[in-house]
Amino acid sequence: MAANETNKADITFFHPDLLEHRDGAPYLKGYRCKNCGQLDFPKLSPCPNCWGEEFETVKLSTSGKLYSVTDIFIGQAGMQTPYIFGYIDFPENLRIFAQLEGEPGSFQCDEEVELTAGEIRKNRDGLPLISYKFKKKSSATPPDLHRHYKT
Ligand SMILES: [Zn+2]
Repeated sequence: MAANETNKADITFFHPDLLEHRDGAPYLKGYRCKNCGQLDFPKLSPCPNCWGEEFETVKLSTSGKLYSVTDIFIGQAGMQTPYIFGYIDFPENLRIFAQLEGEPGSFQCDEEVELTAGEIRKNRDGLPLISYKFKKKSSATPPDLHRHYKT
C-alpha cells in the first residue's frame, strides 16, 4: 500500500486561469479582446476599452524588467516575512504585480526577472498556495563557443 501517496497533501493553486505550468516551463496567460485587440493581465471583463466580452488567451513572455520592488517585513496574515513584491514590465506592454523569489535587498529596478511557479503563502489549512512568482534571471546559458570561435 502506498500510504504516503494517499496522505499526501493536496496543493492548492491560486488563479489557475492566469498561470499555465503543467507542461514544461510555466507561462502567464494574457487575455486579448476579440473586438478591439486590447491585451490585459489579469483578465478584465468586460474589456475596459470597448466593453467587449469575448477574449482569446495569449501566451505571455516568460521574463520582463523589474519596474519597482519592495521588501515586506510586516506582512499579511498567512504570509511568512520577509517577502518581496514588485512590478514587472513585460515586452507586451503590460505591468504585472507579483511576488519575487529571492533574498530581500537583492533585487534592483531595471533588472531582468523570469517567471517561476511557487508557494506564495499558506491557505487556511496550512497548505501551500501555488501561483506565479518571479526570480532573478538565470545566467546559466553558456555562450556557444564552437559557433563563436569557428573560423
Ligand atoms: Zn476591447
